[in-house]
Amino acid sequence: MQKFDYDVAVLGGGSAGYAAARTAAAAGLKTVVIEGGHEVGGLCILRGCMPTKALLYAAEVKHLAEHAETWGVRAGKVDFDFTKVMARKNAQIKDFAGFRAQQLAGGKFKFIRANARFVDAHTVELTPERRHSRKIATLAAKYFVIATGSSVAPSPLPALDKAGFITSDDAVALKKLPRSLIILGGGAIACEFAQFFTRFGVKVTLIQRSKHILKEFDSDAGGTIETVFRREAVQVFTGTKLLDAKRHGKSKIVIFEQNGRRISVSADEILFALGRVPNTASLNLDAAGVTTENGRIVTNNKMQTNRPHIFAAGDCTGPHEIVHIAIQQGETAVHNLIKPESPRRMDYRLLISVVFTEPQVAFVGLTEKEAKARGIKFIAASYPFNDHGKSLIMEAKDGFVKLLANPKSGEILGGACVGPLGGELVHEIVAAMAGRMTVQELAVMPHYHPTLAEIWSYPAEELAAQIF
Ligand SMILES: Cc1cc2nc3c(=O)[nH]c(=O)nc-3n(C[C@H](O)[C@H](O)[C@H](O)COP(=O)(O)OP(=O)(O)OC[C@H]3O[C@@H](n4cnc5c(N)ncnc54)[C@H](O)[C@@H]3O)c2cc1C
Repeated sequence: MQKFDYDVAVLGGGSAGYAAARTAAAAGLKTVVIEGGHEVGGLCILRGCMPTKALLYAAEVKHLAEHAETWGVRAGKVDFDFTKVMARKNAQIKDFAGFRAQQLAGGKFKFIRANARFVDAHTVELTPERRHSRKIATLAAKYFVIATGSSVAPSPLPALDKAGFITSDDAVALKKLPRSLIILGGGAIACEFAQFFTRFGVKVTLIQRSKHILKEFDSDAGGTIETVFRREAVQVFTGTKLLDAKRHGKSKIVIFEQNGRRISVSADEILFALGRVPNTASLNLDAAGVTTENGRIVTNNKMQTNRPHIFAAGDCTGPHEIVHIAIQQGETAVHNLIKPESPRRMDYRLLISVVFTEPQVAFVGLTEKEAKARGIKFIAASYPFNDHGKSLIMEAKDGFVKLLANPKSGEILGGACVGPLGGELVHEIVAAMAGRMTVQELAVMPHYHPTLAEIWSYPAEELAAQIF
């Protein structure tokens, strides 16, 4: 019988890893977390959700101040100090990261600063994170949870590497704003940065390969954001093919094709936002016999890999790069290694996605696109924010809400909200779908007046009238 140093070794101390470790320790398992980053905190806190939302909120405050005249309020000339914008964000991130570091080093489990690499199916070799850890050669565990996250994808064009670009990691740490910026990509990260930079006076050009930006959403969502972006002076190119990139003096140039035309744009800087890849290359997963697909660790819905004692959670396995899912996967993995006889399975019926632009873009459950692709029958109804009392008061007229329902039973299958506080408002439909509510029930549920939330009752009523 092999002797193990730990019951559970968690590789990575981000959102998924911390969730796995606290669950394992709470169940009385001897647990170790191995974290290889120079900083402790994980992507969400250090370079992802939190810094981007802190910066976007600053941009929203500035935008509101600039438009205060709408409500008869004179704010005067609105100015800003970018150093202070970043300083507030930095102070908040320092607090969040400090709290996470305390949780990790709080003594409930062993916390080691080192990079882990498998040498066999039950053993990892540890390379100490230079400044903080003493040298530890190897460590054996009965179970593993791999939660090593993701990094910015490599660029698809060698010319782009040569021209040079910044990534989201660099963008949240800028000391000075560029005067102009080309953003490559049209997903959530690209769109959030496009609005942040444009609202702080940077001339932004966004180049997206697909027909619409935000392609995981229905095209009405992407279309709304494109309209808002163009109104805010973001130059948006969709349906493009990237051809080349180069430097010209201090400028960077991107060349692409759109509708058969060759177009060249130039800016001070390029922001590369074309996706992320799982952090698995350095793990030597072959030594553990763990299967990957395009670098992503393959897991079943119990978060278990092909090696029954090795689990994975978060961005390193996917299929969604979303923080609450990473946490849920970490907890699920540990539950299943403790209680294989009564397994918990990940279920993405209530998948939520939010983009924190203004208007915010959010959905839960099925989009029309996804329902059609899966051959699921549905009826759908939308209602616009430009015809709704509270949003008119707020002058927040862009966007709509949309509901999808089962045409026979009326059960709500999905909800989308592109509009003011869309990321908050969508949670009413999350709760409704969690309880398997129908549109008939939602239509008669009380909504206080005048609120943004009462807008859901209009599509609910329209759909309820179609169910017999
Ligand atoms: C700009 C941006 C904005 C985002 N905004 C949102 C948002 O608003 N909402 C949302 O839900 N999601 C958002 N995300 C996604 C979200 O941040 C991630 O899905 C989530 O943080 C992933 O958590 P994780 O635990 O899988 O990975 P991480 O938090 O990255 O943790 C992985 C850890 O593993 C460590 N590690 C890597 N390799 C090794 C090794 N070999 N040995 C030991 N340690 C190792 C790393 O140092 C890291 O600390 C955003 C992402 C980005 C980039």
